[in-house]
Amino acid sequence: MKFNPADKIQDLQYFGESGGVNPSISDSSTYTFLTAKTMADTFEGNTDGCYLYSRHSTPSNNFLGESLAAMEGTAAANVAGSGMGAITPTLLQLCGAGDHIVSSRTIYGGTYAFLKNFTPRMQIQTTFVDITKLALVEAAITKNTKVLYCESVSNPLLEVADIKGLAALAKKYHLKLIVDNTFSPLSISPAKLGADIVIHSLTKFINGTSDTMGGVVCGTTEFVNSLKSVIDGASMLLGASMDSLRAAAILKNMRTLHLRMKQHSKNASYLAEKFENLGIKTVYPGLASHPSHAVFKSMMNQEFGFGGMLTIDAGSLEKANALMELMQAKNVGYLAVSLGFYKTLFSASGTSTSSEIPEDEQKEMGLSAGLIRFSIGLDNDIERTYRMMKTCMEEVGIL
Ligand code: PLP
Repeated sequence: MKFNPADKIQDLQYFGESGGVNPSISDSSTYTFLTAKTMADTFEGNTDGCYLYSRHSTPSNNFLGESLAAMEGTAAANVAGSGMGAITPTLLQLCGAGDHIVSSRTIYGGTYAFLKNFTPRMQIQTTFVDITKLALVEAAITKNTKVLYCESVSNPLLEVADIKGLAALAKKYHLKLIVDNTFSPLSISPAKLGADIVIHSLTKFINGTSDTMGGVVCGTTEFVNSLKSVIDGASMLLGASMDSLRAAAILKNMRTLHLRMKQHSKNASYLAEKFENLGIKTVYPGLASHPSHAVFKSMMNQEFGFGGMLTIDAGSLEKANALMELMQAKNVGYLAVSLGFYKTLFSASGTSTSSEIPEDEQKEMGLSAGLIRFSIGLDNDIERTYRMMKTCMEEVGIL
């Protein structure tokens, strides 16, 4: 039977203390042991089901991790305090001095800055490539390469990675393929397509209420345990751990992720088609005009659609700013970064979430100054929203 990530979440049933329908929250940073020997054994990693300290793991974090592993079809997962708190230890666990990474050039600005400006301090070098061109990816691999890094749907250009093709390259050269799936939860299941490690910023669609940060690394039990090792685990030692109260909240929100993703996709798909018909330069993986429409289609879990993210080019930064300010004033949504909220969010990526990328590189990768990235909300009547947006576009002279 075909893998369905939403069914995997639904099939998890937890009982709280006293028969609660939600698992009890472990409101403790440290844990007792009945004997000193069990404490010593736990620190050596020889006891299952014992907790030592909440930076390592907590029952609430483990419930959330188990759910995310089930959703991505991996054996294990480790949650973190933010998406960057998942990405940075993963890369540092896999790479050390002298190692090399091949990364997509269109990735979240924070990840880009980490690879471009921070990891060279540790003698880890990265080559950035157009991830949609497998020949370029292969040509960038050297004898020192350890990792292929990409986003399934990239931030902000919505380029789509051919995960099967990249997985074949990773296998051929004995590399780890890491896929950040933040933009396309449920729609794409990277591990099922051959990715070794799947990462999410839970701050976005998975939590869905823009009230908390979170991240997760999904992978093999061996890799997840290595991240948590008290001796040399990058997650354990760098300390970007999640708080149990937050883990419990995110787990509850995950239960409605399938409904939300369908509505985000439906609304974004409607608007993308309308905008394109108006003659506005629109990028959305669900449009036939998207260069990787067929690749997305070949990878997707169809019922969840092409996701809630789309971009338009307003022509200039001035027009983009005027449109965003007017849309906020008219209550279409918020002029804010981030994504996956129930209201629509919009930002000009070049001067916000991708501002870490130098202007000339932005130009080269096709990130224009007037590009507005939209995270389309759960609006009940998207035709009404469209009419409001169109009026705003007319008022600022985009139409
Ligand atoms: N990955 C992607 C694709 C993102 O868009 C972001 C944030 O915008 C991150 C990772 C980082 O996540 P966080 O902000 O939760 O650290």
